[in-house]
Amino acid sequence: MYRVDVRGASGTGQTCTSNASGKYFNNGGKAAVVQITCTTAANITFDSPNAEVYLTTPAAKLLNFKVTRISDQQELQTNAVRYHSENPLIARVDAETGVVTAISVGSTRIVAKLPASYNGAEAAYQLSVKTPQNLRINRLEIGSSLLHVPNSVFQTLVPGRPALVRAYISSTQNATSTAQVTLHVQGGGKALIKPMTCPNTLPWNLDGAQIKPSYKLADTCYAWIDGPDVKAIMGNDLQVKVQVDGDLSAQVAPKVHQNGLMRVVVVPFRRDGVVPKVPTKAQIEEEIMTKMPFVQAEVTIREPFDVDSSVVGTSAALKIADSLRKQENPSSHYYGVISPPYGGGVIGMGYVGYPAAAGREGDPNAFHFTFSHEVGHNLNLNHASCGTSGGLDSFWKQFPEAWPGASNGVRSEAPIFDLRSGELIANNVWTADLMGYCSSGIWFSEYTYSKMSDYISRSSLFTLPKTLSANQKLAIKQKNFSEQSVDDFRYFICEWSR
Ligand SMILES: [Zn+2]
Repeated sequence: MYRVDVRGASGTGQTCTSNASGKYFNNGGKAAVVQITCTTAANITFDSPNAEVYLTTPAAKLLNFKVTRISDQQELQTNAVRYHSENPLIARVDAETGVVTAISVGSTRIVAKLPASYNGAEAAYQLSVKTPQNLRINRLEIGSSLLHVPNSVFQTLVPGRPALVRAYISSTQNATSTAQVTLHVQGGGKALIKPMTCPNTLPWNLDGAQIKPSYKLADTCYAWIDGPDVKAIMGNDLQVKVQVDGDLSAQVAPKVHQNGLMRVVVVPFRRDGVVPKVPTKAQIEEEIMTKMPFVQAEVTIREPFDVDSSVVGTSAALKIADSLRKQENPSSHYYGVISPPYGGGVIGMGYVGYPAAAGREGDPNAFHFTFSHEVGHNLNLNHASCGTSGGLDSFWKQFPEAWPGASNGVRSEAPIFDLRSGELIANNVWTADLMGYCSSGIWFSEYTYSKMSDYISRSSLFTLPKTLSANQKLAIKQKNFSEQSVDDFRYFICEWSR
């Protein structure tokens, strides 16, 4: 009789069992198969119950473990441990090496498990993945044309148009990797999330005094709020949040005006068979959409209107343009174009807060310059103080230090975003306000832009239709410009000088 009865092997710390308890007897010459399983009762423990990493931390093994045999507390060396992460969306762990890769901000348990031969003992540590503490959001800018810091009194966002959001993020260390930065926009019951483009290396060690506006897109993290979604989102409940690595964020609720269809009829005055030179409809629409806070522009180039030989000045052109407006289309702005091109004298005239203006013919650059200034008058703007003291808006005297140089009618440090080129314009380029007389004024300053916006929002002339059209593009170059005003505040006479 043979008997097999496996109970253990205590000398090695192992416990062994057979696959059947009891006894095996002689079975008549046939083989008796007994499976014996030995396990080592052991504990596994990590050095610490907790660990934390930053999202920017390179993948690494964070904690060591110790395996001890229970029978004699002897430490065992083994390669049999296998790791897993209970939430791989927060952090992944290499099953064999225990190297941890942070994925997103949050918490997970990293479990190390011994195989069945060690009784399946396991240990775990709690891993927190955090935003790098060395990152800061120093400044946000947002705008459809003029990029302002949130809550600026001059901020104007225009629905249905691209808005640029910039986040100035810096590090207190010389970080070479970039954080994950996302833009979250919500409003009107809709939400939009998109990644922001950031510089490869974040600026570092900045203090508050160094956070100056940058005029290169690539210097900061940036993203567009654009496309058809914008129309639905850009309501009064608009919220814009920039989020860095999951939990460092800055949130703002910019003001958005809700009005803004600009209808302009441009009337070429034909005299003695000569038709003045007028840019295309698309070029004029682009000028309006680029410089002014409108949602949509509809320009009509009217058939030339014949005038007699005596009509050579902008004063006569203004009156005829306004009378045509009253007869044909009182809800549109009318802009008369008269030849010859500027050769001295008055180049344009525009009523203030009333939809008629006139100006001399010219190539698109000269035309746009005059057109935007005169239409600016129509949109309730007076003059800015650069190069003139005539017909000034009281703002320039009342708030001479609204920003450095404001008393001279120059723009502030806020970057201008040029929709046509997708580039930023620094405050040392085209420094003056278009409503002044200085030759560097081809853009509206924040004061005039926001005043225009207020007027557009209030006036029923600019009520929006239900559907909006796309924006268009064109290019503009510099022209020297100055003007002279008269004391009659009903309209302004605007004159070139070279
Ligand atoms: Zn003027």
